[in-house]
Amino acid sequence: MVPHEEHSPLQHTGLGEGRIEVVCGPMFSGKTEELLRRVRRAQIAAQPTVIFKPATDTRYQKNHVTSHDSNALPSVTVSSSQGILDYLHAQPRPVTVVAIDEAQFFDAELPATCVTLANNGIRVIAAGLDLDFKGIPFGVMPELLALAEEVTKLHAVCMETGRPAHFSHRIAGGDSTVEIGEKDRYIPLTRQAFVEARKQADRRESSAE
Ligand code: ADP
Ligand code: MG
Repeated sequence: MVPHEEHSPLQHTGLGEGRIEVVCGPMFSGKTEELLRRVRRAQIAAQPTVIFKPATDTRYQKNHVTSHDSNALPSVTVSSSQGILDYLHAQPRPVTVVAIDEAQFFDAELPATCVTLANNGIRVIAAGLDLDFKGIPFGVMPELLALAEEVTKLHAVCMETGRPAHFSHRIAGGDSTVEIGEKDRYIPLTRQAFVEARKQADRRESSAE
């Protein structure tokens, strides 16, 4: 008698291309552009794709992921990483590519969620800030970077030197890690320019006390 074959998670998609890709870098480095580029190519390959973004990101339209050069694709807003799983379970047909923008804003379960998806044959493309405005690794990003098969680090253009920028410096606003903003609040800087700008910010803070 042929033993009953266990259901393989890879049969879910029939593709077996489960993997985690992370695109990271500072603000304005082209993370969303790169995520959209990968999604478009997946769509050309007729792969059912969904883009998720966290409810925290209130810039632009709620149902689209939009880059700073005004590229946009429809997206689904979720309030937690469980929301990603719930949405996918509710789909009538399997999704083979899951893109997640602003991954740094998600809860601590996001890395485990991405592993579950990848282990089930889904290609996961996550884009997010690797560092916060103080230059400290941002939320779940370090874990996600460690788990990923492929990591792409992008750079923006430094607003002071014109050189490749790895840091997002906050030029206005308070001291909390999450503060949604655009060019009015953040500028990309090289390490040298960032260190100098942080020193000046610290000096201003201590003289205001
Ligand atoms: P991210 O998602 O990393 O914040 P986007 O993909 O939304 O970045 O936007 C990248 C685009 O931002 C660039 O193609 C460029 O048109 C624009 N841009 C504006 N300021 C800068 C800058 N200082 N460095 C690089 N790109 C910039
Ligand atoms: Mg972006």
